[in-house]
Amino acid sequence: SHWERLVSKSARRSSTSGHTVLVTGAAGFVGTHVSLALKRRGDGVLGLDNFNRYYDPNLKRARRKLLERAGVFVVEGDINDGPLLKKLFDVVPFTHVMHLAAQAGVRYAMQNPNSYVHSNIAGFVNLLEACKSANPQPAIVWASSSSVYGLNSKVPFSEKDRTDQPASLYAATKKAGEEIAHSYNHIYGLSITALRFFTVYGPYGRPDMAYFFFTKDILKGKQITVFESPDGGSVARDFTYIDDIVKGCLGALDTAKKSTGSGGKKKSNAQFRVFNLGNTSPVPVSELVAILEKLLKVKAKKKILPMPRNGDVKFTHANISLAYRDLGYRPTIDLETGLKKFVKWYLEFYSSGSNKKGSW
Ligand code: NAD
Repeated sequence: SHWERLVSKSARRSSTSGHTVLVTGAAGFVGTHVSLALKRRGDGVLGLDNFNRYYDPNLKRARRKLLERAGVFVVEGDINDGPLLKKLFDVVPFTHVMHLAAQAGVRYAMQNPNSYVHSNIAGFVNLLEACKSANPQPAIVWASSSSVYGLNSKVPFSEKDRTDQPASLYAATKKAGEEIAHSYNHIYGLSITALRFFTVYGPYGRPDMAYFFFTKDILKGKQITVFESPDGGSVARDFTYIDDIVKGCLGALDTAKKSTGSGGKKKSNAQFRVFNLGNTSPVPVSELVAILEKLLKVKAKKKILPMPRNGDVKFTHANISLAYRDLGYRPTIDLETGLKKFVKWYLEFYSSGSNKKGSW
């Protein structure tokens, strides 16, 4: 059929590379950048995304256009759709799955808790089931989150630190995902790598994240709310630029060992790995605002409030020595350099007529 031809064409790899990758959440922020990078180097790439309306659908459509121009086809569908996944795995012998589809964001759980269960738990299990039954079994690289460190107060966070105090439902579903992934590795020999991303930002980023809506509100002259921790200290984030995260994802994909299972049975020791992908230099949110003011040449109207208990943690800070050693991960972009690229994209994107009416 026409659909099968599009799928096969998109997933066809160039002769230089041995990978055929299914990217879930391909119309998302990280998924778009990862898909483009994979395609650029010659991997076969097929996207899957349900195009949900959690944020500006215009932005997802624009990302999809970028992808299609690069030759990446995005199937519109949900990771909970078992028959669809089976069909995709039947048509394409994927060597890898880059699983980035999720309900992201911490605060939205207070409005729609079930979307976290649907995508991050039920959908993840459904995808693992499809991978388990596929022939060949693909190696899986999956986005966990720095939020699993929760209320842990030991910094910097390293992979062996405690993750038993989630501060949000989002964090709880990511933590559950790690346990679920581990069990699939153990039982079925699936090769799984969990990447704990730390506050990723950059062009085509997510409108629900602070750096993005601060930019929008500062430009509009609207007041922004900056939270301080209740003990007075500043809230800080280990902001990580998208290009660095993409390199970490590709490093994880390239070092992933093959799954060892077949026919639903485990054969030998397939790997289960967990890595932090951060920047190792946390920046207070007040400084984020100062950098944006400088880049936008507009003074922000700030309201300072104590941090509400809405799921956010006071600070994040990654120890990345494990990813440094095993994935060759070397983040190079500091916050000001990265924000400069974001602001340049933002001004271009939202000044072009078609995107002005973004509903975010
Ligand atoms: P995003 O929301 O931009 O991308 C996720 C994409 O998945 C969206 O396009 C959405 O439409 C799609 N999706 C959601 N549920 C789906 C489902 N059930 N079936 C099919 N598609 C579905 O988010 P992002 O920032 O690109 O995040 C990518 C991954 O990285 C997510 O797993 C997220 O939890 C994780 N992560 C992101 C950050 C960050 O700072 N951006 C930090 C830590 C972890």
